[in-house]
Amino acid sequence: EADRELLEGEHGEAAVAAAPRNLPVVAVVGRPNVGKSTLVNRILGRREAVVEDQPGVTRDRVFYEAEWVGRDFWLVDTGGWEDRVQGMAHRVAEQAEVAVSLADVVLFIVDANVGITTTDEQLLRVLRRADRPVVLVANKVDDQRGELEAAALWNLGLGEPHPVSALHGRGSGDLLDAVLEAMPEEGRGGAVDRGPRRIALLGRPNVGKSSLLNRLARERRVVVDEVAGTTRDPVDERITLGGRDWTFVDTAGIRRRVLQSQGADYYASLRTRAALDRAEVAVVLLEANEPISTQDLKIIDLVLESGRALVLAFNKWDLLDEERHAQLEREIEQNLGHVAWAPRVNISAQTGRHADRLVPALDEALESWDRRIPTGRLNAFLGTLVAAHPHPLRGGKQSRILFATQARTRPPRFVIFASGFLEHGYRRFIERRLREDFEFTGSPIVIGVRIRE
Ligand code: GDP
Ligand code: GDP
Repeated sequence: EADRELLEGEHGEAAVAAAPRNLPVVAVVGRPNVGKSTLVNRILGRREAVVEDQPGVTRDRVFYEAEWVGRDFWLVDTGGWEDRVQGMAHRVAEQAEVAVSLADVVLFIVDANVGITTTDEQLLRVLRRADRPVVLVANKVDDQRGELEAAALWNLGLGEPHPVSALHGRGSGDLLDAVLEAMPEEGRGGAVDRGPRRIALLGRPNVGKSSLLNRLARERRVVVDEVAGTTRDPVDERITLGGRDWTFVDTAGIRRRVLQSQGADYYASLRTRAALDRAEVAVVLLEANEPISTQDLKIIDLVLESGRALVLAFNKWDLLDEERHAQLEREIEQNLGHVAWAPRVNISAQTGRHADRLVPALDEALESWDRRIPTGRLNAFLGTLVAAHPHPLRGGKQSRILFATQARTRPPRFVIFASGFLEHGYRRFIERRLREDFEFTGSPIVIGVRIRE
C-alpha cells in the first residue's frame, strides 16, 4: 500500500505541476437538476478526476482541469455550489453572475424534457448581459426522439442548441467540439514554460486590494489578458514587477466588486476558492490599524486548505501609531502562530511604502513551494535528527523512522515510513525542524506517515 501511495504521489505531482497554467475557463451554468454535475463528470471522463486526497479539498473544489482533443481548459462546476448552501434556488441568477464573470465560455444547460422555466429565464437575462460566448446545451436527450424538443430551443436566441445526454454520453463529443470553437486561444505558456507566476490577491472588503492593485499597475506596465473576439472585463491582469511579469488572477472580482451586497459572504468565499484554484501564491491583505478579525483568519484558512504559497501583507501602515503597532504584534503572536512561516510585509497601498518588498516575499514563498529535497539529503537530515531526538518510548516499544521521501512539490509533501505509530507531538517536531533546516518560508508543507512492520 505504501508503494502505491508513492506512485500516486509521483503521478499526482505531474498533474499538480501542470495545474496553474493560464488556460481558458469554461463554466457550466444552469438551474438545479438539469445535469450540470453529470455533464462535468462526463467531460472529465472519470469520477476520480474530481477527487483529491487531501481532506477538505474535494468538497470545495471549483475548478477542474479538463482536456478535449489536445486542448486543455479549466472547467467550473457550479453544480457543486448548490450543495453548499440551503435554499439556493432563488440565488441562481447571482450564482450565474459569478460563474460568468470567471468564464471565457459559458455552457448553459437546460433540461430538454422540461423546457424553459422561469428560473431558466432569469439565467438567460444574466447571460445576455454578460457578453460572453454561450454554448447552449439541451440535456437529457437520451434518444433521437428528444431531438425535436431540443430544436425548439433555437427560440432562445442563443444559437444552435446542442442535444446531449450527459448521463449516457450521447452528443457530448459534438458539444465539446462546439466548446473548443467558442474558446479563446490557450493562454501563453505551455507545459514547460508555465508563464508568469499567478497571484491571488485576497482580503476582506476595504483592506485595500484594489488600491494595491492600482498602485502596482500605475507604476508598471499592465497587460490585460485578452480574449480573442470579445470585449469584456479582464479576469486576470499581467503586471510587470521587479522586471518580470506576474499574473494577478480574478482582478475583475476586485475591481468590479461583483455582488458585494447580498450573499456576500458565501460568494466571497466561493470567489476566493476559485481564485486560489488558479493561483500559485496568495497575498492576504490585512488591515494593520484594525484588529485581526475572524474574517481575516477564515481567508487564511482557505489559503491553507488550497495548499498554495502564502504571503501576509499588512496594509495601511501609514495609519499606524506606536501603540497600535505594539498591539498588532501581540495579535499576530496570538492569532497567526499557525502561519508564522509566511513572509510578512508591512505596506501602504496609499503611499507606496514598501510596495517593493512584495516581490522578494513572493519569490521566496514560490521558491519554497516548488522546492524538492533530494531523498539522500532528506534522509541524512532525518538520520541526524532522530539520533539526537529519538521517538519517546511507549510501553517498552519504540517507533523508528525507516526512510522518508518527498512525494510531491507545489506544495512540498513528504512521506515518512516508520516502524510504528508516530505521536502527534513528534510529527510536529519533525515538521518544525524540516521547515527550519530547509527554510520552507512561505509554503505549507505536508507530512504523511506510513507504518511498515
Ligand atoms: P445538477 O443539479 O444540475 O448538477 O444536476 P445533476 O447532474 O445532479 O443531475 C440531476 C439529475 O438528472 C440526476 O438524477 C441525473 O442522473 C439526471 N441526469 C443528468 N443528466 C441526464 C441525462 O442526460 N439524461 C437523463 N435521463 N438524466 C440525466
Ligand atoms: P478593497 O475593498 O480591498 O479593494 O479596498 P480599497 O482598495 O477599495 O480600499 C478601501 C479604502 O481604504 C479606500 O478608501 C482606500 O483609499 C483606503 N486605503 C487603501 N489602502 C490604504 C493605505 O495604505 N492607507 C490608507 N490610509 N488608506 C488606504
